[in-house]
Amino acid sequence: MPAIDLSTEQPDVLVVGAGNAALCAAISAHENDARVLMLEAAPFEERGGNSHFTGGAFRFAFRGVDDLVAVLPSLAHENLANVDFGTYTEEQYFDDLFALTQYRSDPELAEILVRGSLDTAKWVARQGVRLQPGLGRQAYEVDGKFKFWGGLALHIWGGGPEMLKTLYANVERRGIPIAYATPAVELIRENGRLTGVIAEHRGATVAIRAGAVVLACGGFESNPEMRARYLGPGWELAKVRGTRFNMGAGLAMAQAIGAQPYGHWSGCHSVAWDINAPPHGDLTVGDQFQKHNYPFGILVNARGERYVDEGANFHSHTYAKYGAEIVKQPGMFAWQVFDAKVSHLLRSEYRIRRVTKAQADTLEALATKLEGVDAEGFLRTVRDFNAACRCDVPFNPNVLDGRTTQGLAIDKTNWANPLDTPPFHAYHVTTGVTFTFGGVKISRQAEVEDLYGRIIPGLYAAGEMVGGLFYHNYASGTGLMSGATFGRLAGASAAQFARAPISRGVAANA
Ligand SMILES: Cc1cc2nc3c(=O)[nH]c(=O)nc-3n(C[C@H](O)[C@H](O)[C@H](O)COP(=O)(O)OP(=O)(O)OC[C@H]3O[C@@H](n4cnc5c(N)ncnc54)[C@H](O)[C@@H]3O)c2cc1C
Repeated sequence: MPAIDLSTEQPDVLVVGAGNAALCAAISAHENDARVLMLEAAPFEERGGNSHFTGGAFRFAFRGVDDLVAVLPSLAHENLANVDFGTYTEEQYFDDLFALTQYRSDPELAEILVRGSLDTAKWVARQGVRLQPGLGRQAYEVDGKFKFWGGLALHIWGGGPEMLKTLYANVERRGIPIAYATPAVELIRENGRLTGVIAEHRGATVAIRAGAVVLACGGFESNPEMRARYLGPGWELAKVRGTRFNMGAGLAMAQAIGAQPYGHWSGCHSVAWDINAPPHGDLTVGDQFQKHNYPFGILVNARGERYVDEGANFHSHTYAKYGAEIVKQPGMFAWQVFDAKVSHLLRSEYRIRRVTKAQADTLEALATKLEGVDAEGFLRTVRDFNAACRCDVPFNPNVLDGRTTQGLAIDKTNWANPLDTPPFHAYHVTTGVTFTFGGVKISRQAEVEDLYGRIIPGLYAAGEMVGGLFYHNYASGTGLMSGATFGRLAGASAAQFARAPISRGVAANA
């Protein structure tokens, strides 16, 4: 890595961050003829932000296999006789996004995200990122056929690490320098417009002048004080699933120069996460501390009681909000309990070495092994649950099968199987926070708006920093798509602004 002399750098576009959104912004700005510089708070060895930790779910609309082939041409040569990809239309994507966010998602942002998603997927693939069918994760084999549910047909091959490897190589080929261990600490705004950034570099502060600045430096999920302040009491105790560097600095910097806070500041994406996982993500384990297959079992708290409908929907529609339910439970933990009938449906994350698991051949023996759980309460819960299962309705993991319980205080409305087949196995989880939903308000060109809805000339935002897309819940695979979509847009807009600052932005404020 050649040393960068930041005192002499004067890029057209300065990108803050070096995760997925930032890399897409840098590539896009470069495609639009800008000289680009990237600043990254993390040292080289910890680079990649939350994007590194992703499994690679990537949500985009497609009308059929032809659209998938346009993203992944090699698919045309594969034998797809036993695969039913179905379709995932823009309308379905809108329906999912709006239903999951309780109809609060900003319609303009949603429109940009959803209508551009197929084109964004093709663009990402053109940058060299490889995709593959999400068999086993988003489709189960039933009667010899894989049938996709939930819209996530293609995943990023190799997940976050491979995606980033490709994007870093791309940026390097373009000659875009990245200054690592160089956090931006302040934005420079002169005569209304952004003219650069102050950063900390090798123990000193340095002012870097730029034609435009793209902030793509994450939310405040890594910052316990901000989590407690905005998400509420208890959230400072949550584990962080990803990077330790998303401390909310970008949001603070933007607000310090008058950017408008926007979106669900008391909301976040959080999941069930192994109780013994480290405080922040482990680069070697990635997303595997997550435990997403609770729809095939039951969830119990310290009282041994169920506290949510585990089968309300496919996990991709509930996993991101059920982490918050664990914060509300005594001791902030839960156990996920399964029997042998569904073991084959559990994903690889249940079989990693660093898993907190209990197993027994009887429910009574298991009850004694569920640390922190009232054994009597647990056995009562299972007895009542087993008796309430509508076993006359066939079980099918690929559809909302309607195999419900009946008459419980909280019914399980799909995939309700009695726990009756040993060995019984259980997994100890707490809340793992993924990313926060609050951000700044951006325009259709990814320009950051001020408190009064005016554009701050020369300032753009992308990725987790964008507020207004997600409220309450989230559809899996949308984070990477949002980062790529708004990163690409911000990069292109910033490049155009840097070349012609008077005609855009500044004039818009006049
Ligand atoms: C375990 C896990 C699994 C996930 N799985 C998926 C998935 O399968 N599909 C999906 O779509 N989404 C997934 N997500 C969500 C997804 O990772 C994020 O939504 C997305 O990657 C965010 O991209 P970003 O570029 O905005 O942020 P990041 O990738 O976090 O990048 C932000 C960067 O900014 C840097 N930074 C912070 N402060 C500063 C500063 N002051 N100056 C300079 N740099 C700074 C950080 O170090 C970081 O590198 C997952 C997240 C996690 C944690």
